[in-house]
Amino acid sequence: NLTERLDGVFRKLRGHGTLTEENIAEAMREVRTALLEADVNLQVVKEFVASVTAKAVGKEVLTSLAPGQQVIKVVYEELVSLLGTHSESLRLDGRQPVVIMMAGLQGSGKTTTSAKLARLLKEKGRKPFLVPADVYRPAAIEQLHVLGEQVGVPVFASSTAQKPADIARQAEAQAVAAGYDTVILDTAGRLHVDEELMAELQEISRAVSLSEVLFVADAMTGQDAVTVAAKFSADLEITGVILTKMEGDARGGAALSVKQITGRPIKFVGVGEGLDALEVFHPERAASRILGMGDVLSLIERAEKVVDEKKAQQLASKLRKNTFTLEDFLEQLQHIKKMGSMEQLMSMVPGINKLRQLKDAPQPSQKELLKTEAIILSMTRTERANYKIINASRRIRIAKGSGTSVQEVNRVLKSYALMLKMMKKISGKSAVVKDGQRRK
Ligand code: GDP
Ligand code: MG
Repeated sequence: NLTERLDGVFRKLRGHGTLTEENIAEAMREVRTALLEADVNLQVVKEFVASVTAKAVGKEVLTSLAPGQQVIKVVYEELVSLLGTHSESLRLDGRQPVVIMMAGLQGSGKTTTSAKLARLLKEKGRKPFLVPADVYRPAAIEQLHVLGEQVGVPVFASSTAQKPADIARQAEAQAVAAGYDTVILDTAGRLHVDEELMAELQEISRAVSLSEVLFVADAMTGQDAVTVAAKFSADLEITGVILTKMEGDARGGAALSVKQITGRPIKFVGVGEGLDALEVFHPERAASRILGMGDVLSLIERAEKVVDEKKAQQLASKLRKNTFTLEDFLEQLQHIKKMGSMEQLMSMVPGINKLRQLKDAPQPSQKELLKTEAIILSMTRTERANYKIINASRRIRIAKGSGTSVQEVNRVLKSYALMLKMMKKISGKSAVVKDGQRRK
């Protein structure tokens, strides 16, 4: 896999230093091959490699990461950012009922996915209404009726004699009358994109106000999915993408390309024929999949943990020696800002993970953290080393210096003192555990 390949490339470079254009060029060739093998569109690969190169060059190599791993980290992060960084939900707010239209080629999975989506929305407490608008094949209408029955969602009684835009309009009116809040339009597809199909979809979009136009693409078709996506998004205001048949060997390259080409988020992925096989799209998982290694995440996590563990050990030793100063508190705050939570850091300190209440304690907001940081930064070194000397006049000075108030300075000192007390208790406990025997 890619990890192994890159490790080989960088074996000779193990150690410290920075990443240079030369030493990452070789790695980029490997990345390029891996992405192309994963069926990512060539143009997308080119842009991707250029952007990763720009980001990786000159980056300091984390001591805990081999350079090859460092590149993988950059590649991985870039992949995630391209794929959308976070999961996107459906637009279901606003005027009810909302209308969702499925669009895509024949066989991409529109009808199946309509039913899957209806099932999912019903589970969430919504009242979906399935509407067959594929009037060319009676079997298609029948198919949606069968699926609707299976998921227990009502299906509009379309007829092949109607125009799809009329079906949409009538179905919307019926939804209003019956109190359904989500209309799901299953449209016709063709084997290839043609103008008639696009005209029909555009007509539907004029007939009703669409909250979502979901482009459904078969991930197994790889490059074709990309071409089709480009054509659909040129003619239609697509709001999101659903990739089907993602459970197979399709390595997810289509995901990267389709997202890049349409500029629209991937909202769901189909992972099987069963009606429960629809999942919210997770960019991180897809990124690992494209890299062809489920372990890339854990690799990065492990590497980052080494750094954090070192910090945690220092912290633990300070706690034992009772030398945890405001200076350490400041460093920890900065660390929390990076790591996202206090709990993550504390969980690495021996003995602390047993303290459940830490987990339930409210997490300080980013704003609070910044304020606290500013307050500690306004203290002198002597004050940070010994908070007990911080009397009233010093508090006023610190408040002025940090642009806060005396009350806020008091609050920080109080919470520090409280933390100190708590830590003393914990570190005492962990010493007992460590020695393996009870002390009197
Ligand atoms: P449509 O022509 O776009 O409406 O496509 P259909 O919904 O009729 O689906 C075509 C075929 O793809 C059917 O056999 C579905 O069972 C299958 N299918 C749809 N989604 C998935 C999926 O996520 N995984 C798998 N394995 N098959 C799927
Ligand atoms: Mg269909």
